[in-house]
Amino acid sequence: MSNEEIPRGEAALLQKAREKFLATFGRQPTAAAGAPGRLNLIGDHIDYCEGFVLPAALPFLTLVVGASNNSTECNVVSVLSSGEVVSASFPAPTTSTALKPGPPAWTNYVKGVVANFPGEVPGFDAVIVTDVPMGSGLSSSAAVEVSVFSFLEALTGTKVGLVEKAKLCQKAEHEFPGMPCGIMDQYIVTMGKKDHALLIDCRSLEAEQIPLDLGDLAILVTNSNVKHQLTGSEYPQRRAQCQEAADRLGLPSLRGARIEDLEKLKAQNCDDLVLKRARHVIEETRMTVEATKAMKEKDFRRVGELFYQSHESLSHLMEVSCPELDQIVDIMRGVPGVLGARMTGGGFGGCVVTLVKKSDLDDVKQHVLSQYKGKPTFFVCQPSDGARILKL
Ligand code: ADP
Ligand code: MG
Repeated sequence: MSNEEIPRGEAALLQKAREKFLATFGRQPTAAAGAPGRLNLIGDHIDYCEGFVLPAALPFLTLVVGASNNSTECNVVSVLSSGEVVSASFPAPTTSTALKPGPPAWTNYVKGVVANFPGEVPGFDAVIVTDVPMGSGLSSSAAVEVSVFSFLEALTGTKVGLVEKAKLCQKAEHEFPGMPCGIMDQYIVTMGKKDHALLIDCRSLEAEQIPLDLGDLAILVTNSNVKHQLTGSEYPQRRAQCQEAADRLGLPSLRGARIEDLEKLKAQNCDDLVLKRARHVIEETRMTVEATKAMKEKDFRRVGELFYQSHESLSHLMEVSCPELDQIVDIMRGVPGVLGARMTGGGFGGCVVTLVKKSDLDDVKQHVLSQYKGKPTFFVCQPSDGARILKL
């Protein structure tokens, strides 16, 4: 296996999806849509606290093709990034029959979107293909949700506003896979723009496109290729701990909290873990805003410092890193050309994002390969467009 993760490109994925659809259903698809994975540059475990986040959409895509089938059944085949093919059938929702979550787990990401689609959904046949790495903190989950949603828009002719679409896909993830995620993933996957990152205010839901003009620098992504299966309750637990801190402060979310408020929490003898989570959210929100300003001013040294500080906060305060991610960040420290590194995404595995001089990219990768005990893969982040309906 090569160490480089290379996007297959929209045209190649579309061809693959069309061929699979013809082979499976014996006819041509009539509608197609795609949605990308995403990379969060800074601001993790913040969106559900209504803070600021700075993600970018990636050239890795999940793509859906399909057609109505004049029945009340939805038949979906998904070719996963591993090459494994999975398939499922479920009834199209009607006024009298609601869709319900249930195994196999992957189907909930599709059914949740079908159930929350604002227009009437007919029976359909569909094929999903993807090159978004799954479970790597690059949001294959939002990519599949938003691509299915966009496919349903193309199939039914229903047009939904971008903010509404992101919110409905988030609702789908809450209700069907049962993951209480924030709004970041569905937002960037819907609204990403080539060569830009998106500063999202997760309270007002206003967003600003930030040109990602890095000059002689690049954003290197190192995939640790580990995903620790913990109990599955870690994310909801973090969310609940943050909400407890906000409740104790009499705030709707930690967005309104300031560093001085930690003293108020201490005075209430609040649990040490709750205190640590609150400190992370307050610091990480500030660092996201500061990193965005530094990027605009092209003060990339500062951006790099903030990457390292953000990693420390995620590792020691939020406690969502893992030995492999900590090790990769440690390996990056002090290597010529490296300005900063941090884990990205929900954590417990997945990727590290590193700001590095383009001329040092190969040396940095070699250094990681020689030091890191696992099997890392790499790609350079090329910010790309968000979800789109495709012509067939
Ligand atoms: P991440 O979003 O970081 O990749 P998640 O655990 O949130 O990781 O979501 C991964 C899950 O989403 C997969 O285990 C699978 O159930 C579902 N999923 C993602 N992409 C696809 C796809 N193309 N086809 C079917 N299911 C998918
Ligand atoms: Mg996800």
